[in-house]
Amino acid sequence: MASDNGRRKDPGWKYNYLANVEDKNAVTCLFCNKVTKGGIHRAKQHQVGNFKNSTKCLKCPDHVREELAQYMAEKKSDKENYDKMPDFDDIDNMIEIEDVDDDEGKMKQTNINDKLDKEKRAQACQYIGRLFYLAGIPFNVARLDEFKWAIEAIGQYGPNMKPPNYHELRVPILKKEVAYTNELLSNHKQDWKKYGCSIMSDGWTSRTNKTLINFLVNCPSGTMFVKSIDASSFMKTGEKTFELLDTFVEQIGEANVVQVVSDNGSNYVLAGKLLEAKRPNLYWTPCAAHCIDLILE
Ligand SMILES: [Zn+2]
Repeated sequence: MASDNGRRKDPGWKYNYLANVEDKNAVTCLFCNKVTKGGIHRAKQHQVGNFKNSTKCLKCPDHVREELAQYMAEKKSDKENYDKMPDFDDIDNMIEIEDVDDDEGKMKQTNINDKLDKEKRAQACQYIGRLFYLAGIPFNVARLDEFKWAIEAIGQYGPNMKPPNYHELRVPILKKEVAYTNELLSNHKQDWKKYGCSIMSDGWTSRTNKTLINFLVNCPSGTMFVKSIDASSFMKTGEKTFELLDTFVEQIGEANVVQVVSDNGSNYVLAGKLLEAKRPNLYWTPCAAHCIDLILE
C-alpha cells in the first residue's frame, strides 16, 4: 500500500501520528500535541519551523528539526506539489505535556503510549461496567482487593486469555479455593493454640424462615467463620444449644478455648451454665452488642 510505504520512508512519521486513521490530513505532533491539517508535509513544516502558514513547534528537538529539514531539502523536487496544497488553518490544539525529557525517543514513546493506554483503559472499563450492570454485581466489589488482583492477573497474562468457564468456576476453581481457605484456617489454628481463642455463636433466621446458627472463632489474628448449622429441625432448648456449643468446643480443642460468646437468649444462658459446669476452664460471656441492643429496644 502506497500510504504505508510513504509512512515508512518519510521520517516525519517518526515524530507525528494520526489520531484518527480515517483522516490522513489531521496529523498530531508528538512533541507538543498540536494537530496540523495539511498532512505529514504541513506537520514537518510545523516542526522544522519558519514556514508560512504554520506555527513553529516550540518543543521539537534540534536534531529532529535538522533531520526533517534535510529530508525536505532532498525532496525539493516535490516542492511544487507542496506549494499547490491549499492553505489549511492550523487548529490550535496545544495540550500541555510534561517537560521534554532528555531522551526524546523515550518521550515520544511515552506520549503515544499514554494516549493508547487511555483509550484502551476506557474501553476495558466500559466492558467491566457493562458486566457489573448486566449481572447485578454490587458496586462494592470494585473496592475488593480481590477485584484488583484479578484484573492485574489478566494483565499479566497478556492478550487472548480464555476466561474461566461455567464448569471451571463450579468445580476445579472452587475446590482449589476451599483448599486455600483451609490453609488459611490452619494458620489460625496455630494461633488458637498459642494465644487461646474465643468461640462466637450467633443464631439468625433466614428469609426462607430457616434457623441458622453460625460458629466463629476469634483470636489475635482475626475472626474466622468455621461453620453454619441449620437448626430449623429442632427446638432451641438450652440442652440442645449446650450440645451444639459443646461439640464445637470439642472441635476447636478445649485447651484452646478461653471463652464462649453468644447472645443473651434464655437457651444460651442455660447452655452457658451447662458448659461452664462441664468445662471449668472456660467462660460463657453474653454478647455485649446484643445486650446493648436489648437495652436500647
Ligand atoms: Zn509540535
